[in-house]
Amino acid sequence: RSEMIVATTSEQLRDALADGKKAAKGRGGKGEVGLVPTMGYLHEGHASLLQRARRENDVVALSIFVNPLQFGPNEDFARYPRDAERDLAIARKEGTDVVFMPDVSVMYPRPSQTTVSVSGLTESLCGASRPGHFDGVATVVSKLFHLFDPDRAYFGMKDAQQVAVVRQMTDDLNFRVRIVPCPTLREPDGLAMSSRNVYLSPEEREQALVLSRALGRVDGWLAEPGITGARLQERIVDTIGTAPLAVVDYVEAVTYPGLLPAGDWQPGDGTPLLLALAVKFGRTRLIDN
Ligand code: AMP
Repeated sequence: RSEMIVATTSEQLRDALADGKKAAKGRGGKGEVGLVPTMGYLHEGHASLLQRARRENDVVALSIFVNPLQFGPNEDFARYPRDAERDLAIARKEGTDVVFMPDVSVMYPRPSQTTVSVSGLTESLCGASRPGHFDGVATVVSKLFHLFDPDRAYFGMKDAQQVAVVRQMTDDLNFRVRIVPCPTLREPDGLAMSSRNVYLSPEEREQALVLSRALGRVDGWLAEPGITGARLQERIVDTIGTAPLAVVDYVEAVTYPGLLPAGDWQPGDGTPLLLALAVKFGRTRLIDN
């Protein structure tokens, strides 16, 4: 395979994708593009998305863009971790063909007057605690889908609500891309991998284990007679309460992918249940499900 191309403008991206597709077809491939959208500071979770994209497409594209639109005024946009050199080394190792790393001025050259806003699904969970967040996500993902015109786009189920929102938007707006949800990768001790884990102090890092521990107990609780969505939610809150540094933003039981309240949910209902949580340790907000 030829060398990875790094594009910083939309024109460079267009050329790089055209070259990549042409080369793939020259090798007898279909020229299909798999896109992995990220905010960078890549970890093994991102790498697993790139690996899946590599298996299923002849052109693998990665976007690295810390999107200011999806951060609230008091959130961590300015201090979000960034390391372009390390990210490019990981991208290269995973066989990425095209990396798009635009500046904010490339993605938003003038004050935009257009927002893509998904209703309903964005009213609960992170949508409720981060007003405007999913407008920022839906808007930037729409732009990326137009810029890349990918055949497949890979998203992690750690952000389960994001997957539901992006799927809904894709159907509603007739994007031709197929959305591929991917499993959550964890550290050996259970903590879900996240770029934000570097913010945690050693004590916070230790106590953050309570999240995966609580979720890990769900399988056992499901075997208890009379168990419901509301009971599971309570048990998770109680378990998290054993970590003194944990401040719960939300713990919710909802249907998936409809994200409707599921307090009455019981095993055997035939509806998938999502148990989703957001918990702060100091200034760091972690999510898992
Ligand atoms: P981010 O850079 O955090 O915005 O994430 C970019 C993509 O990687 C999103 O689709 C995330 O859901 C996905 N992702 C983040 N963390 C993980 C993880 N631990 N395992 C799998 N995918 C992940």
